[in-house]
Amino acid sequence: MSENNINKDYSCMDDYDPNSILPDEALKRIFNTISATTETESIPIREALGRVLALNITSEINVPSGRNSAMDGYAINAADIPTEGTHTLKIIGSSFAGKPSEIKLKKGGCIRIMTGAILPDGSDTVVMQELVEVSGDQISIGIDTKPGSNVREAGEDLGIGDLVLEKGMKLTPADIGLLASLGLAEVDVYRKLRVAFFSTGDELRSVGEQLDNGAIYDSNRYTLYGMLSRLGVDIIDMGVVKDDQKLMDKAFLDATGNSDILITSGGVSVGEADYVKETLLKHGEVDFWKVAMKPGRPLTFGKLESTYFFGLPGNPVSVMVTFYQFVQPALKKMAGERSPTPVMIKVPCVSSLKKRPGRVEYQRGILEHDKNGRMVVRKTGAQGSGILRSMADANCFIVLPLENNGVKPEDLVDVQLFHGLV
Ligand code: AMP
Ligand code: MG
Repeated sequence: MSENNINKDYSCMDDYDPNSILPDEALKRIFNTISATTETESIPIREALGRVLALNITSEINVPSGRNSAMDGYAINAADIPTEGTHTLKIIGSSFAGKPSEIKLKKGGCIRIMTGAILPDGSDTVVMQELVEVSGDQISIGIDTKPGSNVREAGEDLGIGDLVLEKGMKLTPADIGLLASLGLAEVDVYRKLRVAFFSTGDELRSVGEQLDNGAIYDSNRYTLYGMLSRLGVDIIDMGVVKDDQKLMDKAFLDATGNSDILITSGGVSVGEADYVKETLLKHGEVDFWKVAMKPGRPLTFGKLESTYFFGLPGNPVSVMVTFYQFVQPALKKMAGERSPTPVMIKVPCVSSLKKRPGRVEYQRGILEHDKNGRMVVRKTGAQGSGILRSMADANCFIVLPLENNGVKPEDLVDVQLFHGLV
């Protein structure tokens, strides 16, 4: 038993396994092994949505570039705002967005101004047009406007030298807009990762094929395809590989060097037809772990030349849980993202949950408001690792720690939102 394994006596009453490591430890080992890519490419900003920024962006200009009006109205000098009653000012010119006034404002005058137009010299305040009475070429203003109001200062969004976006951020639509407002047509991002995957199992049929006796449709390739698509990686779907040593060898060797990460599902237990571990041992370096988690105890992590390998369990829920807990953080780290671990929140659970001590459990839950508007979580129905519906119905994982031995209604539990996982 290594020093990192769970050091605990175990009995048939609980779920402790002395050969297992904790999920946190498994993630730590993965993070210690893989490194972030250093390869970058420069791409047009519109194509950069969801890509990881490869350098800090600092502003070389002021945004907005000049002091301008936040309203349609009249540019005035604050000294002309009356302290009581009204004051009449003569309209001496106009300033439009993109067509500034060339006239300098003098005391007793005002300049018609539109939103986004540069403030004329001599003015420091904009009176909203709704607060003004116009008569011919004169306006009359009251006491309602504060000095300096409705003016946007140069650089108030972004100033010269400001750090605007940080290396390692995944670019959002707002970030793309910021890049455009700095006038940048292209941006440096880390290259896309290439991820290959295949399913293993003689019982698996692809959609469109007939289901003969005992066969099931392969769903793991579809959930994996979906989870990988959301991460924006290049996907190589290698199909179903039968439980056959020769075919397994070929599939592993085909993926090696051709992808950054290879993911398989099934065949990692110790059954007679479980070839994944043996094949990996033959061709690469392997860490085979039993992770103290439910679902998803067996997990194989290793390396084949420059390709990292994740051998996920076969059960459909186990695939999704182990993908979100280990493969996704690994991919995010490898892609150059800064903070790859998702956030957890604590809320009352309104269901009772069965659990034995000894494994961290990722039960599937629905986070919602109860009838008093309180945020609570309840479990989806049956929680078996083959019941994919429990994932489809859920919007979060209820994460129950190792020692937990069941949850009573109103106990506080940790919840990991699916929303935060993608
Ligand atoms: P295994 O780890 O290969 O023994 O698989 C564990 C369970 O998951 C078995 O019941 C398999 O039939 C099922 N399973 C394995 N791969 C898939 C798949 N791609 N889609 C759906 N179920 C699967
Ligand atoms: Mg199998």
